[in-house]
Amino acid sequence: MKLTIIVPCYNEEQVIGATHRRLLKVIDNAHWDSEILYVNDGSTDDTVSMLSDFSNRDSRVSVISFSRNFGQQAAVSAGIHQSCGEYAAIIDADLQDPPELIPEMLALCLKEKANMVYGRRRIRKGENRFKKWTASLYCRLLNRLSEYPIPLDTGDFRLIDKRVIKTFKSLSEKNKYLRGLFAWMGFKQLEFLYDRDARAVGETKYPLTKMMRLATDGLIAISRKPLTVALHVGLVTVAVSLILALYVFVSYFSKYITTVPGWASVTLIIIFFSGVQLLTIGIIGTYLGCIFDEVKERPEYIIVNDNEKS
Ligand code: UDP
Ligand code: MG
Repeated sequence: MKLTIIVPCYNEEQVIGATHRRLLKVIDNAHWDSEILYVNDGSTDDTVSMLSDFSNRDSRVSVISFSRNFGQQAAVSAGIHQSCGEYAAIIDADLQDPPELIPEMLALCLKEKANMVYGRRRIRKGENRFKKWTASLYCRLLNRLSEYPIPLDTGDFRLIDKRVIKTFKSLSEKNKYLRGLFAWMGFKQLEFLYDRDARAVGETKYPLTKMMRLATDGLIAISRKPLTVALHVGLVTVAVSLILALYVFVSYFSKYITTVPGWASVTLIIIFFSGVQLLTIGIIGTYLGCIFDEVKERPEYIIVNDNEKS
């Protein structure tokens, strides 16, 4: 039985040494054939040379490097595309998800004959209130919009089996939101409760702008419901504007209603309807952008050096 541990890395020179030591301990003590696959997502610091060094020293360690920063989702995706064993584990490089839990996840997966075991966070250390609050709100919104349930308080930390790996490899879409995609796949999935640590060293690689992009990608990838919401808002505003038009029409001819020429109400109406139109166009535009990206058929990532050992 072979297990591939996939680790996406972007500028993680401060922590990757410690992560590597802990991962090595895990695979040294494992009773099955294991390998570590680092995916260097266009790091600009010393990460890449450190990873090459790890790989040169141990035949169980491989590295693939991207030509630029393609994002964590693409990095994990590349890792899954390269895995050829029975199981693959996905774990962040910053030690927020303890590597020592991987054998426990695998044991649970084998015992219950599951296809996937996903980590669900019981406690999230080292994350500020704003991040916890927005993350929780977003997860709930995602679930509302999704046609299939997406487990709450989960990330990419999980273990997947050959069946999931094979299905994943068969998907041709490029703009992936992994959490949603794994939930969509179905199969037998089990949750694994764990306490998430604070990032061991360094800064988060998700500044607000990147976080917002991932959040939008997630919403667009999992559901068409925002389009339906836009349609409903459009219908309601049309109905309201018809009532307003009727009022204007009646008041024009009626001697009982005196029309006071005022720009405030007119301005408000214009602002409101323009806002609704812009929102709707924005939602449609975002979907259109995703379709545009897909039809271009560019690869999801570009690998520059493939040191993968067979
Ligand atoms: N990561 C990546 N590419 C990126 C951003 C992040 O490969 O563009 C990796 C990063 O090195 C880490 C994981 O994705 O292994 C999660 O990133 P981070 O810990 O910064 O996110 P947070 O936990 O703060 O949400
Ligand atoms: Mg982190």
